[in-house]
Amino acid sequence: MDHRIRKVVVLGGGTAGWMTAAYLGKALHGTVSVTVLEAPTIPKIGVGEATVPNLQKLLFDFLGLPEEEWMPECNASFKMAVKFVNWRTPGEGEPTARWVDGRPDHFYHSFGTLPSHDGIPLSHYWVHDRLRGRTDDPFDYACLRETPAMDAKRAPRWFDGNRAMPYAWHFDAHLVADFLRRFATARQGVEHVQDELVDVEFDERGFITALRTRQGRRLDGDLFVDCSGFRGLLINQAMGEPFVDMSDHLLCDSAVAAAVPQDSAREGVEPYTSAIAMKSGWTWRIPMLGRFGTGYVYSSRFAEPDEAVRDFCALWGLDPETARLNRIRFRVGRNRRAWVRNCVGIGLSSCFLEPLESTGIYFITAAIHRLVTHFPDRRFDQALIDRFNHEIETMFDDTRDFIQAHFYFSPRVDTPFWKANKELRLAEGIQEKVAMYRAGMVVNPPASDDESTVYGSVDLDFRKVWTNGNYYCVLAGLGVLPDRPLPLLLHRPRSLDSVESRFSTVRDRQRELVATLPSNYDYLRRLHAK
Ligand code: FAD
Repeated sequence: MDHRIRKVVVLGGGTAGWMTAAYLGKALHGTVSVTVLEAPTIPKIGVGEATVPNLQKLLFDFLGLPEEEWMPECNASFKMAVKFVNWRTPGEGEPTARWVDGRPDHFYHSFGTLPSHDGIPLSHYWVHDRLRGRTDDPFDYACLRETPAMDAKRAPRWFDGNRAMPYAWHFDAHLVADFLRRFATARQGVEHVQDELVDVEFDERGFITALRTRQGRRLDGDLFVDCSGFRGLLINQAMGEPFVDMSDHLLCDSAVAAAVPQDSAREGVEPYTSAIAMKSGWTWRIPMLGRFGTGYVYSSRFAEPDEAVRDFCALWGLDPETARLNRIRFRVGRNRRAWVRNCVGIGLSSCFLEPLESTGIYFITAAIHRLVTHFPDRRFDQALIDRFNHEIETMFDDTRDFIQAHFYFSPRVDTPFWKANKELRLAEGIQEKVAMYRAGMVVNPPASDDESTVYGSVDLDFRKVWTNGNYYCVLAGLGVLPDRPLPLLLHRPRSLDSVESRFSTVRDRQRELVATLPSNYDYLRRLHAK
C-alpha cells in the first residue's frame, strides 16, 4: 500500500509560510501538492529583519537563487555582526557609544571565525596576555580580522564578487515573503488560496483532515504546517498543544518599531545590526539603503507603552505624535512539542525568542530542513516526530540561554530592568559553559574552523549553535574575563613565544581589508542598480 504524503497544507503567508512552501516544493521534487492558505486581511509581523550567515546556503542556494537575484528584490543589505552599544555603562538610550576610560562602550559579536595558533584559539592567548597586563586591546579588535572593516563601513565583498569575510543579510521581511510567494507559485507549483481559516476538521484519532475557510472552501490534506504566527491557530488552538512560557529567562515581551529615512550617500551604510542598550531593554538598528529599520524591545513589566514610545522617539529624534509606529506584543518560549500528530508548527506559531541575536528566520530555516530530514508518511511514525521535537527543543533552549547570558552578565544595574535580569535563574547548560569559560577552557569548540563548513551545515548547527567565538565575543565584550588562562597554555612555551606573529597576521589582514574593500554603500548601490 502507498502511504506517501500527497497533500501538504500550510496555514499562513508570512516569511515562515512562504519559506516552508518554497522549500518543500523543491525538496520533495514536486511529488507532493503544497497549498498555502493566507488571510489577506490578517497582517504579517514583517518588521525589518536581520539574519545569520547560513541562510544563503541552506535556503537560497538550495532554491537556486543567487544573492544577485533575491537581494535587489528585497532591499537587502549586508550584516557582518551585531554591534552592542552601551551594554556596560549606565545611562539613557543613546545611538552612539558612551566613552569610559578612553574607550567607547561597544563590542562586536562578529560572524568572522576565530583564528587558531598551534591548535588553540587566539582567544586563549589573548586572555593569557590580558590577565598578565600585556595587552589592553579589546578581544574583538585583537583577535578578529573583520572589526576595523566594520568600523570603516566596508562591504564584506570586493567588487569582483569575491567574499572577504562571512556575512548575513538585513532585509525587508514583507518583500522577502512576497518574493518567495512569487517564486513558490511560479516555479514550484505551490497553490495560493487567499481566504481566512474559520474551522478545523479532525478524524477520530485527533488528526487534522481539513481546514474550512470563510468563503466556504474545504482544504483537505495529509500534513498541516502551522505558520499562522503568534496565534498558533492549528498547533495551539486546534491541537491544544501548550505553549511553554519562558519569561522567567527573558524579560522583554514588547516592541515599538519604525522605519527611519537616512541619507545613505552621506552617512554610509553600516554593515552590521546595532543593539543599543536602553533603560528597559534595547533597540535594534538595521541599516538598508535609504533608511534603517529600528525597534525598541522592552519589558512591559518595567516600561509603560507610552514611556517606551517616548524613549524610542527621543533616541532617533522622532515625533511620537506623527511617527508611524508599529507596536508589537510577543510571547517568549516554545510549544511543548513543535510537531503533534499531523500538525507541525514553524515560525512564530512554534517558538520565539526576542530578536537580540536575530534567530527567528534561522529557526524557520532549521525547522524546515529538519522537517524534510524527518519527512513522514501517512502512518506518522512517532519516532520521527519525537526526534524532530527533541532537535527543535535543544536548538531553542540553547539559544535562549545564550541570549539570557547577554542580559545576565551585562554589568549594568542602573535601572530596575537591568537589576531584575541579575535576579533570574540561569539554566544548568549555560551555567556549565560559563564555568568552563571562567576556568579558561575553550567553550563548545566548533567542529571546524572552516567558514564554509561552519555556516553550511544544519547538522553541525543543531549540535552547536553557539561556539567558543560566540561566547568570547559576548562575555569578553561585556567585560567578563576568565579567572585564569587555559592551564595547558603554560605548558606550551613555544606557542606562547610564537603567537605574536599570528596576532600580527590578524592586524595585517585588518589593514588589508580596510584598504581594499569598497564601501558598503557603493557595493549595495551597484548591486541594487543591476
Ligand atoms: P507572521 O508574519 O505573523 O505571519 C502569519 C501569517 O498567518 C500571515 O500571513 C497571516 O495572514 C496568516 N494568518 C493568520 N491568521 C489566519 C487565518 N485565520 N486564516 C488564514 N491565514 C491566517 N526574525 C529574524 O530572523 N530577525 C529579526 O531581526 C527579527 N526581528 C523581530 C522583531 C520582532 C519585534 C518580532 C516580533 C519578530 C522578529 N523576528 C525576527 C521574527 C520574524 O519576524 C518571524 O520569525 C518571521 O517574520 C516569521 O513570521 P511568521 O511567518 O511565523 O508569522
